[in-house]
Amino acid sequence: MPVPFADLQLQYETIKSDIDRAIASVIRDNAFIRGPYVDAFEREFAAAVDVKHCVSCANGTDALYLAMAALKVEPGDEVITTAHSWISTSAMITHAGATVVFADTDGTTFTIDPAAVEAAITPRTVGIIPVHLYGQPADMDAIMAIARKHKLWVVEDCAQAHLARFKGQQVGTFGAAATYSFYPGKNLGAMGDAGAVVTNDSALAEHMTMLARHGGLVKHQHQIEGINSRLDGMQAAILSAKLPHLAAWTKARQDAAKVYDAGLNQIEDVLVSATAPDRSHVYHLYTIRHARRDALAAHLNSKGVQTAINYPTALPFLPAYARLEHRVEQFPNAHRDQGQILSLPMYAEITTKQLDEVIELIRGF
Ligand SMILES: *Cc1c(COP(=O)(O)O)cnc(C)c1O
Repeated sequence: MPVPFADLQLQYETIKSDIDRAIASVIRDNAFIRGPYVDAFEREFAAAVDVKHCVSCANGTDALYLAMAALKVEPGDEVITTAHSWISTSAMITHAGATVVFADTDGTTFTIDPAAVEAAITPRTVGIIPVHLYGQPADMDAIMAIARKHKLWVVEDCAQAHLARFKGQQVGTFGAAATYSFYPGKNLGAMGDAGAVVTNDSALAEHMTMLARHGGLVKHQHQIEGINSRLDGMQAAILSAKLPHLAAWTKARQDAAKVYDAGLNQIEDVLVSATAPDRSHVYHLYTIRHARRDALAAHLNSKGVQTAINYPTALPFLPAYARLEHRVEQFPNAHRDQGQILSLPMYAEITTKQLDEVIELIRGF
């Protein structure tokens, strides 16, 4: 029995009539850009995350850009982020006009190491972008304490962590702003590109809204030079149809992770990712470590089990950052992980039988 890495079709089938109705409504109302469906989703998502404002935009990458542009980063400013993430996190620091400074991960949770953040601070540091990677919150107590001490802003990259919690508090509510992606494969996914920034700061929300809409809130009144980054009505209506299911889908991912944990913890060569006790993990990805990762991936693949490597090269070692001339010794955890990590099939609809099959194949290997 093949086990896909994710199965978007299966999710669609469970809510097909809601999605089809949402799409038909947008077409009937000609509400393709802005309009009531986008306004409604912004309200609903802000309520779901427990924040005052949700500024929707075209994707999670733009969301990071909008947050930093609104926080007015300037050339020479340094922004610290994790060595282990998707490239949007660091690339947008550069595109917003600042300088990227990487900090290593903590070696167990795949999230940024607060001690490494502290060590990377210079007089030019203005902000920190922790990433709640794979769906596990970063250590927000430690990160917020460092930010307060050094008067830095924090923007949480929540692209993989919808509804995750740190000590009971939702991610996305700790820093000045937080960014989300609704890329189809994310825990809450559109049927195309979509993203948002959330914040409790009304002035920041207004500035981000302006930036995303050609620099003005009223047509032809451009207060600043903005960009065009819109969530379209169709995606908004689809997201509104899916949002009520997100809590149950998250629970299903967590239940699947428990099955993996129980089975894989018994296998000596497999390192199951640790979830820190005060954090709720929403398992965008279920990622293990294995010393013979590539051989294991090939074995699973030959038996019809799809896997992925998120990500095969840690950010400091990508050609895009060759200019920074980073050395392996500066990021020992991220460097070790890039050679050992393997993401296993994970989605809300995955069955116990499929999970058992993956576990048995790994045991056999
Ligand atoms: C997906 C993702 C992004 C970018 O989101 P897009 O919607 O694809 O632009 C940013 N950061 C992280 C950690 C992501 O996983």
